[in-house]
Amino acid sequence: MLVGVPKEIKNHEYRVGLVPGSVREYVQNGHEVLVETGAGAGIKASDADYVAAGAKIAPDAKTVFEKADMIVKVKEPQPTEWAQLREGQLLYTYLHLAPDPDQARGLIESGVTAVAYETVTDAYGGLPLLAPMSEVAGRLSIQAAAYALTAHQGGRGLLMGGVPGVLPAKVLVIGGGVVGTHAARMAVGLGADVTILDRSNRRLAELDELFEGRAKTRYSTYEALDEETDVADVVVGAVLIPGASAPKLVTREMLKGMKEGSVLVDVAIDQGGCFETSHATTHADPTYVVENVIHYCVANMPGAVPLTSSHALNNATLGFGLQLANRGLEALKDNAHLQDGLNIHKGKVTYKAVAEALGVDY
Ligand code: NAD
Repeated sequence: MLVGVPKEIKNHEYRVGLVPGSVREYVQNGHEVLVETGAGAGIKASDADYVAAGAKIAPDAKTVFEKADMIVKVKEPQPTEWAQLREGQLLYTYLHLAPDPDQARGLIESGVTAVAYETVTDAYGGLPLLAPMSEVAGRLSIQAAAYALTAHQGGRGLLMGGVPGVLPAKVLVIGGGVVGTHAARMAVGLGADVTILDRSNRRLAELDELFEGRAKTRYSTYEALDEETDVADVVVGAVLIPGASAPKLVTREMLKGMKEGSVLVDVAIDQGGCFETSHATTHADPTYVVENVIHYCVANMPGAVPLTSSHALNNATLGFGLQLANRGLEALKDNAHLQDGLNIHKGKVTYKAVAEALGVDY
């Protein structure tokens, strides 16, 4: 197959669909890979790096879209991109179609076969191609909080891990899933005093075993939220209710009981946020203050570290991508988890939740 990698064109997107190491894997499997010139610039991979991995370089996106049998990307196709897709071509990328009817229409009209990273499943009921970005965001949340806690950022002037004889910061993590676990790991690693709230008793038991006392766990009730936010220096919002907007767990009223200069990091902001006072921010201007509490609510946190994020994403997407390239549509019949990723095929929506959200036949 001829596998095409266009340069990402969404605003401030620096990741790339295939890193050079992944190109080499496709080439080893007998495929040709065509990479748009400059596609790896955001991760400091040059055209020469891609050529060394076995790729050919295309002068523009048009050539990639025209020639490729399969397009591998990161973000959902933009209008100029979906206009270039065609029937018989495979598209493998994040799509997030449910809230995006224009894109859905564009893909339907193109006739393309689109496999969405975010709906591919694994044997444990997880979403393996979403998880790496949650890992990145979870870990980054603590770096962001540690910086926001410094005095020149308006924070409490507190060092996350304290020093001998001085107590560390108290970090509250709400939601102990992928984001929450990775946030807690980073906070524990820095020596913070960490508490994780969750609504799942099974997950609380797993976290208790995982952290062996280095992080405390507590069942998430309004009473627990009230008490824990009062004493926290940092609160990380990491809840997810699949398919629904995030519940507003920390209210404006609760902020009044929080310490001046404490920090809220709302990682769940891409699902609307789990703090009443959250609104989405960008890396260029990531924080704002409400009731003397600093809010960090960047909707695309992994975008800050495209090098790490591209490699993490490729580690997750490579196996399924090779199956698609090696077997074409047969790969979907062979692998039910990959089949779960199929959102659009030959002008039809093939994923139930997306069809329902768009009000179209399925
Ligand atoms: P996950 O499903 O792994 O974990 C969510 C956890 O929240 C689960 O353990 C669940 O039991 C828990 N939960 C649900 N309701 C709760 C409640 N009332 N109180 C406490 N815990 C509760 O999800 P995840 O992958 O960790 O993602 C978390 C959020 O982070 C999602 O909204 C996701 O979209 C978002 N996210 C944001 C970014 C970003 O850049 N901002 C990046 C990646 C993920």
